[in-house]
Amino acid sequence: MTDAHCHVVRGEARHFLCEPFGDLRGVPPPRCAGAGDSPRDVFFFGWHPWFLDGFDADALRRRLAERPDAGVGEIGLDRLRERTIPQAMREAFEMQLDIAAELSRPAVLHGAKCWGEVVKACVPRAGRIPAFLFHGFSRSAGLLPDIVRINGFVSIGPALLNDHAVNYRELAKAVPADRVLVESDATGETAAKLPRAGEIADFLADLRGVPRSEMASVLESNADRFAECCLRRGATRLLCRVNEVKGEIMPRSRPVEGP
Ligand SMILES: [Zn+2]
Repeated sequence: MTDAHCHVVRGEARHFLCEPFGDLRGVPPPRCAGAGDSPRDVFFFGWHPWFLDGFDADALRRRLAERPDAGVGEIGLDRLRERTIPQAMREAFEMQLDIAAELSRPAVLHGAKCWGEVVKACVPRAGRIPAFLFHGFSRSAGLLPDIVRINGFVSIGPALLNDHAVNYRELAKAVPADRVLVESDATGETAAKLPRAGEIADFLADLRGVPRSEMASVLESNADRFAECCLRRGATRLLCRVNEVKGEIMPRSRPVEGP
């Protein structure tokens, strides 16, 4: 199973890992006890809207240049902590979206209590940013057509298991089957008490009235399509080939002349 958004290696077959909160030092992400290597993991680098102290767009550009197979994230806007969105937060988000567009990397988005504004910022960059992952998306289904139009995916999180999350469950049913993913959003601190991606997937299958095995394969094929946007980019730059048997990325030694 793929955990479509987390900040820690949890022992899943694949993680879409956002480096912990804009930490661009290049240190490996934390790892839960007993979690082995996941060679299919995909990395995302960026400045989370809660942790913009020392924001440095050039550092992000450099980090992405080192890793042509990485995306941009977790980036976005947030109104959980303050009622209005600070100007510096908007600017950091816009700059990071521009970097993603310039380098044609997929983006993992955060938009607590301001998803409409996040979507609005993404629309003009659709296409140049090959795909978007709406992580923790919890708005009503009204934005889903726009999200689909810009090649967006919506990852469903642990809140699904909360019996009070009536609206969230409705949303989880409404996300088109070819757009849905599951995520834990686990960090080093929260991982122990959060459900695994597989538990969320099983719950989602029951909720949507599809067999669990079918749900699992739909989720994997969606995750593959999202990940390809990174791998394709890496393939152009590094002439990586995907070893489908092992699911590993094997860089070849010869550099390519790219566009
Ligand atoms: Zn997160």
